[in-house]
Amino acid sequence: MAASTSGRHLTTVAASITRQSLRIRRRLMRFILVNGRTRRQRSFCAMCDQPIGENYLREVGTRLFYCDADCFTEHCESAIQLLESHARAVANLT
Ligand SMILES: [Zn+2]
Repeated sequence: MAASTSGRHLTTVAASITRQSLRIRRRLMRFILVNGRTRRQRSFCAMCDQPIGENYLREVGTRLFYCDADCFTEHCESAIQLLESHARAVANLT
């Protein structure tokens, strides 16, 4: 009885550790590169509005699709520029 309870406890602890490591990995992972898989729903690139083909990139945080790494990079650069201009505007107000 005690061994069974202890085994169950270890299983619960292991499951908890696995969930935590998956959560950390998701936080660190910025995008998923998909090769050779066509989406069921017709989707379009968030940056250039071209239809998504068999190879694409999906941003984990926003779940947006990009047709390739160039569009994803362009999106990241434009987001950084937007944040920089916002920071400058806030700094000018103070
Ligand atoms: Zn694109």
